Amino acid sequence: MFHLNRILVRTIFGLAFLAFPAVIVRLIFGADAGWAVFACGLLALLGYHVRNLSRLLDWLRGPDPGAMPSASGLWDDAFASLYRRERHHAHERQRMRGLVARYSQAGRALPDGVIVLDAENRIVWCNEKAEIRFGIDSTADAGQFVTNLVRQPELAEYLGAEDYARPIRLRTSRAGGLTLSIQIVPYDDAQKLLLARDITQAERLETMRRDFVANVSHELRTPLTVLAGFLETVRELELDPQRTRDYLDMMSDQSRRMQRLLDDLLSLSSLEAAPAPPGDERIVMSRLLARVRGDAENLSGGRHRVDLDANGDFDLLGSESEMASAFANLVSNAIRYTPAGGEVRLTWRAGADGADFSVEDTGIGITPEHIPRLTERFYRIDRGRSRETGGTGLGLAIVKHVLLRHQASLEIASEAGRGSRFTAHFPARRMIPADTPSKHDIAA
Ligand code: ADP
Repeated sequence: MFHLNRILVRTIFGLAFLAFPAVIVRLIFGADAGWAVFACGLLALLGYHVRNLSRLLDWLRGPDPGAMPSASGLWDDAFASLYRRERHHAHERQRMRGLVARYSQAGRALPDGVIVLDAENRIVWCNEKAEIRFGIDSTADAGQFVTNLVRQPELAEYLGAEDYARPIRLRTSRAGGLTLSIQIVPYDDAQKLLLARDITQAERLETMRRDFVANVSHELRTPLTVLAGFLETVRELELDPQRTRDYLDMMSDQSRRMQRLLDDLLSLSSLEAAPAPPGDERIVMSRLLARVRGDAENLSGGRHRVDLDANGDFDLLGSESEMASAFANLVSNAIRYTPAGGEVRLTWRAGADGADFSVEDTGIGITPEHIPRLTERFYRIDRGRSRETGGTGLGLAIVKHVLLRHQASLEIASEAGRGSRFTAHFPARRMIPADTPSKHDIAA
């Protein structure tokens, strides 16, 4: 109503403005001349409106607030109001673009694959993780049935049953073999989300955990069964004292075996739970090496030649008890897997840029296919030999753990029938000159 009044008032003023010269001309030159002037004025007004209308139409073809035509009178009002509206829309469009960009960025950042499906299970949108996990293309495959692209019967069944209370597991051969947990989340009548979480690692850990429990149970069951059998025999049968003693010896062997296994299990679990080893505590290498050599000689009982070759006035920084346990395991293996008469050589080479501790033997050696798996828990090449010599199958797992905790690595070189060399490489940051007091020594 307000606009109508304005238009009327302006139109009346405009006509009055045209009529005024026409009336003057009429008074001077007569009616015809007056009408002619009025008609000319009307034509000029019409031309003005046609021109502004054409400018408006031109502008509407590609509305750009910066290129808004300017005019006077009613057209100025119209252009100004269009200009304001267009500016508002441009601002809104900008805001929406930003919002879409932010949401698609968030979609990309999601660790899960996400596919938006319509009511018929056709792909509406998907993020990059879904593209990788299912091998689909968010642009080219939009509108395709997801089951045509992910051709796994379990998925078709899951979607068909329309019971999305639990996720399902899908195995794909993509990216070197993945296990995905697929969950459908309906979020309105027409759409649903398909979420694909990569649970490959979690599944691997679960398998490792199950294998570990099975291995521990098996390792404990064997000596326990033997113990129970001996106990039964000793209780039921009348045995001569020598026989009884033999049985008791065998029983204590089995209980020692269980004890060793539990000790190693406890060592491993405390290594896993313990905080990082100290970075400022000195391990006095001369003392540790002498102790390790003594252990080797005791274990060998004179059946091997044990040599120590230590070079370099540097100590290690870290946990002495952990390192002693790692070195003891390496030395114990060298003695146990080297027949009598063989040699075991301990070498320590240290400098400011790092150190190597190696245990070399002339024992039975290892064929190459076993080497990468030796540090796995309970991995043994010859189960019988390991057990006979008091092995638990956890020694090298402990060594690896201790070294990792000290940023060190283990290198294994071996040749079947000729011997093995296990070398621990320590980085420069774990080194300290042997005569320099560490922060810990100063504090003490
Ligand atoms: P185990 O208690 O059985 O010795 P480890 O974890 O210490 O367990 O070692 C794993 C396996 O690696 C052993 O069972 C053995 O087959 C092999 N092994 C380790 N050290 C040596 C070595 N010095 N010479 C030959 N084989 C070895």
